[in-house]
Amino acid sequence: MRDYVAFSRLREHMDEQSVQKALADLPDIKGLFCYAFPYFAGKREGNISLYARGKDYHKVISAKLAEECKKLKAEYPDNIFLPYVDISPFPEVMAAAMAGLGKKGKHGLLITEKYGSFVFVGIIATNLEMQGGKPAEVCRGCNACIKACPNRALSERGFDERRCLSAITQRKGELTDEEKALMRSCNSVWGCDACQLACPENAKVIQTHIDEFKEELIDYLTSQDLQDSNKQLQKKYSDRAFIWRGAAVLKRNTEILEDK
Ligand code: SF4
Ligand code: SF4
Repeated sequence: MRDYVAFSRLREHMDEQSVQKALADLPDIKGLFCYAFPYFAGKREGNISLYARGKDYHKVISAKLAEECKKLKAEYPDNIFLPYVDISPFPEVMAAAMAGLGKKGKHGLLITEKYGSFVFVGIIATNLEMQGGKPAEVCRGCNACIKACPNRALSERGFDERRCLSAITQRKGELTDEEKALMRSCNSVWGCDACQLACPENAKVIQTHIDEFKEELIDYLTSQDLQDSNKQLQKKYSDRAFIWRGAAVLKRNTEILEDK
């Protein structure tokens, strides 16, 4: 799915530092192509968040956006196209919602009509002249995500990343007893899907057509899978997003889960 939003409209929703960063990357930026890549591969048991069970989305989406940039460049040889995945100066969910790809959910994620919130957002910034963009739609506000959040990371005030289980499982170093208990109660080695699974907008979503997100899935990680050295594991799981904080974090997490 692709649509676009004019930078002049999006910048109203950006802080000055982010605007300056965007301008440093592309001084005559005019707009953003926004993409939503679905990753839902069906309901499956597991102890890894659904987004991380397939191939590393950074790599998969970077490759897809590079391909898109090539096509755009062939069509508009005089313009610049800069791809971003995950780390960008732009409020990506807002940009995608303003481009018309979906609504902004209270859980902070983009909700598309076909694929719900199980999508990765990718951006291509460009100096191609653009006029698009409309006020972002918001979700129905039923608060099911807030109620389902196991650590009160979501509230009417917004999102508190420090309390989010997904962030906790990615944190390096020693975790507190409360954080360990939270991981055990949610059976999570990596990430958390509670807010997304509770969302009624995700009740009937279509499965992904992207091979890298539906084939060779890893649903579980146990300490048995992590017997090798950190270096060997880094290599073994080099195509997976859950290795990006290092093997030591995964070993610690499986030990916490198995120390019941
Ligand atoms: S991912 Fe889990 S912990 Fe984080 S906000 Fe959603 S429900 Fe809460
Ligand atoms: S659970 Fe309800 S409030 Fe939360 S994102 Fe979904 S529709 Fe919005």
